[in-house]
Amino acid sequence: MQIKEAKYETTAVKPEQYPKRYLPEVAWVGRSNVGKSSIINALLYRKSLARASATPGKTREINFYLVNEALYFVDLPGYGYARVSQAAKEAWGRMIETYLQTREQLQLIVMLVDIRHAPSNEDQVMYAWLAAQERPSLVVATKLDKIPRGQIPIRLRTIREVLGMAAEAPVIPFSAVTGQGRDEIWRQIEGVIGL
Ligand code: GDP
Repeated sequence: MQIKEAKYETTAVKPEQYPKRYLPEVAWVGRSNVGKSSIINALLYRKSLARASATPGKTREINFYLVNEALYFVDLPGYGYARVSQAAKEAWGRMIETYLQTREQLQLIVMLVDIRHAPSNEDQVMYAWLAAQERPSLVVATKLDKIPRGQIPIRLRTIREVLGMAAEAPVIPFSAVTGQGRDEIWRQIEGVIGL
């Protein structure tokens, strides 16, 4: 996909604040620090359009980025901060659950995992939820450049096993440093959205 224009549109913590325009949306989820901001920037060929929160644990928000006036990238707050209170975790849970469950124009959910590590318990819960719902989803294994090439197959196998993925469900390895995987991820997005 050729990116003609990509811009931040708005931040939301509740549905009334979501964009009013009815365009297809692609949502990005994953643990904090997994590389969510980096992949959004890489797919949009921008250096710092999406930014990770500088303060881990502070109340996080949902950010909407408008791409080519044709779709939104929706950056959901990262989960898995160890030092966050239970109340903050629950608020996070409600915010993303509300978005994921109620947003009609949401067409694809991309879940990110770090290729170097086995998925966490929270990743497993997230994936189980994704697999059980109706909308298409895609798993992307980030930070591909951080492991030796020879280890890629075993790491991908571990991710599939720990998440309990079906054989036909795709896992795409990706590096924000080299851009490897970017075209394949765009192909998947375009396939689902029908661009
Ligand atoms: P977020 O919290 O999920 O938005 O994560 P960020 O995109 O801010 O990335 C967290 C850290 O991982 C930053 O230091 C990034 O530079 C680094 N990072 C993200 N993606 C990659 C990648 O593909 N390769 C490498 N080597 N580092 C990455």
